[in-house]
Amino acid sequence: MATTVMRSLLKKGPTTKLFIDGKFVESKTSEWLDIHNPATNEVIARVPKATQEEMLAAVDSCSQSYHSWSETSILARQQIFLRYQQLIKDNIKELARSITLEQGKTLADAEGDVFRGLQVVEHTCSITSLMLGETLPSITKDMDTYTYRLPIGVCAGIAPFNFPAMIPLWMFPMGMVCGNTYLLKPSERVPACTMLLAKMLQDAGMPDGTLNIIHGQHDAVNFICDHPAIKAISFVGSNQAGEYIYERGSKNGKRVQSNMGAKNHGVVMPDANKETTLNQLVGAAFGAAGQRCMALSTAILVGEARSWLPELVERAKALRVNAGDQAGVDVGPLISPQAKERVNRLIQSGVDEGAQLLLDGRNVKVQGYENGNFVGPTIIGNVTPQMKCYTEEIFGPVLVVLEAESLDDAISLVNNNPYGNGTAIFTTNGATARKYTHKVDVGQVSVCGPMCVRTLQCLLCFLKGIQFYTQIKTVTSQWKAEDSTVKTPAVSMPTMG
Ligand code: NAD
Repeated sequence: MATTVMRSLLKKGPTTKLFIDGKFVESKTSEWLDIHNPATNEVIARVPKATQEEMLAAVDSCSQSYHSWSETSILARQQIFLRYQQLIKDNIKELARSITLEQGKTLADAEGDVFRGLQVVEHTCSITSLMLGETLPSITKDMDTYTYRLPIGVCAGIAPFNFPAMIPLWMFPMGMVCGNTYLLKPSERVPACTMLLAKMLQDAGMPDGTLNIIHGQHDAVNFICDHPAIKAISFVGSNQAGEYIYERGSKNGKRVQSNMGAKNHGVVMPDANKETTLNQLVGAAFGAAGQRCMALSTAILVGEARSWLPELVERAKALRVNAGDQAGVDVGPLISPQAKERVNRLIQSGVDEGAQLLLDGRNVKVQGYENGNFVGPTIIGNVTPQMKCYTEEIFGPVLVVLEAESLDDAISLVNNNPYGNGTAIFTTNGATARKYTHKVDVGQVSVCGPMCVRTLQCLLCFLKGIQFYTQIKTVTSQWKAEDSTVKTPAVSMPTMG
């Protein structure tokens, strides 16, 4: 701790503010973390570990503003989000620049990060139909029943580093448009984009106190899991953190949504369109330097498709590694030197366990960015299910390749892997695709295309988001006509009608 403080005092980057009760305020903490540009490892800013008092002030502000915000008309809430989506559109380039600076991904990919988040904000503008309840008239004589979809209170979000715009935008817009107030803890490694998004939300007319932002690590997470005013937590990140937050938050009676790690398999059948498949595999394995939960990080080549491996390697080799803001870049740096070290270690573990290193990106040199966290595209062949590079999520530009004799063999490989985020099959045979989608035990399946964040987004934000951030109140009303007065008490449950 003392070292962190000392380092920060020595280097002093600009400070990231807290957002409490409608004001961007400097933290009074003595504990700060450095934020680095992943392409150079230079310190570019500092982020505070918010104090207990600051976190309490943030959640109190959420609690106090809940009463008026939850009573604000749905049409008024919709108007704010209509203005918000326009502001995001108008500022997409500025948001993307802040993402590339802190997270490292290419500018083009950073714009995609904002764009996918923007789509969720656009979706919130349909709140007038999303919040509809249901009715069942005449459930019995003179009795009608109907449901209201209502907000649940103060909600919280805990975000990862890999999508600084999209993932916070999965969280607070959906939560808030439903009438909840929101406490957000962005990743301590990439907070700048979230702060810009908060300012834009304020400019769109969001009342003070409805969104509060705290920064920090474990203490902030524990605070969110424990504070009784917080009714629901949305988490996206690693398994280690997600399992912990799920357990601690739900023990405290909160609704918890934990979206965690991945090892997504792409099954390549020999009848697939070779050109399209190889290009899609390379894009999905190495885009964002493999730091996507939807990356296709594992390929299973079935039968004759095994002979495509040399061409896959050639295509991956052609990708250009550079800082995210440089022209023509395909693969940017990893988030930190620790992430680079971890990825390199997992590549080496494959070699040590007998896999074949077909393309080794560990010694890539990027001129002018010698201190960056770069790892070039890497392909490991002859991988078996026991190897560490297969059992662990690598979260880097590394594609591990397994081989299978048949579709059935490929399905059993995928089903025996403990991760189940997403999978893809590449084939031109409808029956093969159908069998795969039915037999594979994975939540999201993509046919003839890479895993796509759109699928995840549809599921999480469009279909389920409204359910997560609302609760149902069921009302039963019995308006009896004057001539049907109840004359005796009914003490038994009715057996009819
Ligand atoms: P992370 O788990 O390290 O961090 C996520 C958040 O949890 C951060 O805000 C961090 O401060 C907090 N945190 C970290 N460690 C913690 C701990 N031990 N206890 C409590 N809180 C902790 O994740 P990351 O490295 O920022 O993001 C990468 C991970 O996120 C990958 O595993 C990736 O697959 C996953 N991810 C999943 C999805 C999905 O939708 N399933 C989407 C994006 C990323």
